[in-house]
Amino acid sequence: MVDVPPLVVARALPDQVPENAPAHCPGTESDLAGKASACAGCANQDACQSAPKGPDPDLPLIRTRMASVRCKILVLSGKGGVGKSTFTAQLAWAFASDMHTQTGVMDIDVCGPSIPTILGLKDQYIHQSAAGWTPVYVADNLACMSIEFLLPHANAAVVWRGPKKNGLIKQFLKDVDWTGGMADELGADAPKPAVDYLLVDTPPGTSDEHLAVVGCLRESGIDGAVLITTPQEVSLQDVRKEISFCRKMQVPILGVVENMAGFVCPSCHARSDIFYPSTGGARALCEELGLVFLGSVPLDPRIARSCDVGESFVDAYPDSPASEAYTHIIAQIKRLVRKTDTA
Ligand code: SF4
Repeated sequence: MVDVPPLVVARALPDQVPENAPAHCPGTESDLAGKASACAGCANQDACQSAPKGPDPDLPLIRTRMASVRCKILVLSGKGGVGKSTFTAQLAWAFASDMHTQTGVMDIDVCGPSIPTILGLKDQYIHQSAAGWTPVYVADNLACMSIEFLLPHANAAVVWRGPKKNGLIKQFLKDVDWTGGMADELGADAPKPAVDYLLVDTPPGTSDEHLAVVGCLRESGIDGAVLITTPQEVSLQDVRKEISFCRKMQVPILGVVENMAGFVCPSCHARSDIFYPSTGGARALCEELGLVFLGSVPLDPRIARSCDVGESFVDAYPDSPASEAYTHIIAQIKRLVRKTDTA
């Protein structure tokens, strides 16, 4: 296993975990800083104990940065392997198909970033300018930020505990210039939205990354979360936890997408249920919990192929049943987001 190389640590190490901190450092901004059992013997203990604790000084900076983003959407799943990143990429391409809109994709799956490959951005690196980190562009109006752009090669494993992951996410929110240089022109006093949609692709579950992004965006506002699941009960059980997380954290849920819902043979168009919806699938879950069921996307082996080569499945196979499903779901999300935007 390859640890994060020194170059990455130097660029992305969060402020609240000093480089000389022990492995279980609670973070210098934590109320436990200097007092936790991990702090015993740490060279920073005196400084951490006496450092002032209070509102996070980064939050106003994040608020200023996010003022240039009109709509922020989280893409969540309870379980891994349900097609969350694939859906995020399709949603991004769909938003970006309107050349008058600007879309950003922020990949906060720190330990397993897959968005760069799906968007066709392998072996890309970010640049730094006076305005911050410049994301990597898929097209003129579609940008992406991921930890993969900070790694020396795509196979390098990121072995980070919670506070370091939190710090990186904070840096993404604080330092990435999603406006592609327009932020300077807008001015700090009267920032007007320059990015229409920011899609945040999260890792599965409800962990450090989710808490970090929700906490950092609380003041800026999250327009909603799209939850991805597969039809079988074992996946629905985990999505229930995700729903509970959103409700606890007061993140509005735009709706639930059922992915891999049946297999449609590309030759004969016959359908079979590979992940059998033994308890009624996502539709029944939405009815039970009063959520919007956004739709079902059938399995299609060409989706995986499109992800591997970094192309938009909907653009490549517009007539497939899966593309029709994606298009229908994305249209609903656009409508829902417009409603929250004008509410
Ligand atoms: S004293 Fe505790 S909080 Fe401070 S750097 Fe050391 S381990 Fe982290």
